[in-house]
Amino acid sequence: MTRPEEGPLASYRDRFVGADSPLVYFDGNSLGRPLKVTGPRLARFVEEEWGGRLIRGWDERWFDLPRTIGDELGRVVLGAAPGQAAIGDSTTVLLYKLMRAAVAARPGRTEIVVDRDNFPTDRYVADGVARECGLTLRWIDVDRAAGVTASLLESAVGPDTALVVLSHVAYRSAWLADLPELTRIAHDAGALVLWDLCHSAGSVPLALDDWGVDLAVGCTYKYLNGGPGSPAFCYVARHHLDSLTQPIQGWMGAVDPFLMGPTYAPAAGIRRFLSGTPPIVGMLAVQDMVELIDEVGMAAVREKSVALTSYAIEVADELFAGRGVVVASPRDPALRGGHVTLDHPLMREVTAALWEQDVIPDYRDPGGLRIGLSPLSTSFEEVERGLERTREVLDGLTG
Ligand SMILES: *Cc1c(COP(=O)(O)O)cnc(C)c1O
Repeated sequence: MTRPEEGPLASYRDRFVGADSPLVYFDGNSLGRPLKVTGPRLARFVEEEWGGRLIRGWDERWFDLPRTIGDELGRVVLGAAPGQAAIGDSTTVLLYKLMRAAVAARPGRTEIVVDRDNFPTDRYVADGVARECGLTLRWIDVDRAAGVTASLLESAVGPDTALVVLSHVAYRSAWLADLPELTRIAHDAGALVLWDLCHSAGSVPLALDDWGVDLAVGCTYKYLNGGPGSPAFCYVARHHLDSLTQPIQGWMGAVDPFLMGPTYAPAAGIRRFLSGTPPIVGMLAVQDMVELIDEVGMAAVREKSVALTSYAIEVADELFAGRGVVVASPRDPALRGGHVTLDHPLMREVTAALWEQDVIPDYRDPGGLRIGLSPLSTSFEEVERGLERTREVLDGLTG
């Protein structure tokens, strides 16, 4: 096992706060590190824009910011032409808004299809929407070390399917769904598809327009380094923009917010998917990561990501041989997103002990140690050092 050269992207590590410390960070897929330019950007905002422009800031820039950042994200990360993406609420709230919009656009159809290993919030929101709208959830059972395949989806959809809700990269296994193919299968059944891109945006290249995606959401605090609780993005394909309506009919999504009229009429375009006053401070940092990704290019980000996850699996195979540790992520890089999950019954205890030692993976039941490898801030050396500590801790626990 030879450690790969750190390669041409290695210098980007210096752009992140704390990447030069001895701490091993394996959780950039849950909360990305801050970029060094973000602190000064936030300070400038407080001094110059908020402090200097005060309420005028809304007219000058803030009112349009959800859409201007959405357009940049669309161009650099999502493969979306302008006018189809916006930054807004949490992923959870956007899931609700877009699920309601989608099922209302498929009257007479009675089912929402979702898989049992989808992220909890997706399943819970789908369950709530189904109850609210008198629909039925149709569950897809999946292999926990993999995810939804074409044949599984084919046998779940039909003339009753209103909406299919899927994650592009499975949060537990890192299974990378065949997004274009699954979208085609749902469309052939006459259904709409809502993709959750939380674990792929900023890690796996996307071409939402080319792939014919209807609807998508994703968070900005994982591979987009927007900071804890930074607002999520939504994508609505252009041909749906003026026919879909969402249920949280707030003034910021109304046709003329400052008319303060007696009744709601939705704005044209993506702005109708906004509801209340957008969280401007929270969305500033995302711009820094989008700019950095623009400089590097998503193809190079993905190449580094694949190299990191492949190396992590190689190191894990060698270090954990004979110790009952199972690689619970696809071994084929074409089927894998940006993290690797290692299963062992003691991983909860292992994770707790590692956090004490400044080695930070995370844990997902049952028995999964997740190693998230943020492509621009993680080094191969860090992967090796972190997995060596993991083996020592596991050996300590098993005696
Ligand atoms: C992280 C994540 C979420 C988080 O939703 P929030 O509303 O930001 O809490 C949702 N879906 C997936 C697939 C995720 O990985």
